[in-house]
Amino acid sequence: MSTDHLDGIPYEETTDDAYAVTAAHTFSVQRPSKGFTLLNGDCPRCRATLSVPLVSDVLRQGEPPRRRRGILRRAAGTRRSRPAPYETVRCNCRLPHSGRPENRRGCGAYWNVYVAPQEQP
Ligand SMILES: [Zn+2]
Ligand SMILES: [Zn+2]
Repeated sequence: MSTDHLDGIPYEETTDDAYAVTAAHTFSVQRPSKGFTLLNGDCPRCRATLSVPLVSDVLRQGEPPRRRRGILRRAAGTRRSRPAPYETVRCNCRLPHSGRPENRRGCGAYWNVYVAPQEQP
C-alpha cells in the first residue's frame, strides 16, 4: 500500500538482484488486451504501488523462451534482433524522491522481469 511508501529515499538509478526476486513474488500480471501487459505490484525499493505497462508482446512472437541459456546476463542496453524475453521495469511512482530530475518519475529503481508468453488454450 502507498501508506508504506518510504519518503526518505533519494532518487537514484539503481538496480539490485533482490529487486527482481522481490518483484517476481509480489507483482501480478494483467493482460487487459492482446499485446498489452500490465504489471501491478509494489516497488521493491520505495514500496510505492506501481502499475507498469509493457507493450512488447511483439518481442516474443515466434521465440521460445528457453532458447538460450545465458539470458540473465543482459536485458538493458543491448540491441539484438532476437531480444531476450525479459523486460526492464522501472519504478514509475508519482511520489517525491529528492534529487529526481524534473522529467522523471519513480525512485530510479529498475529491475528485470520475465513475463511468460501468453498462453493459447
Ligand atoms: Zn520506487
Ligand atoms: Zn517512490
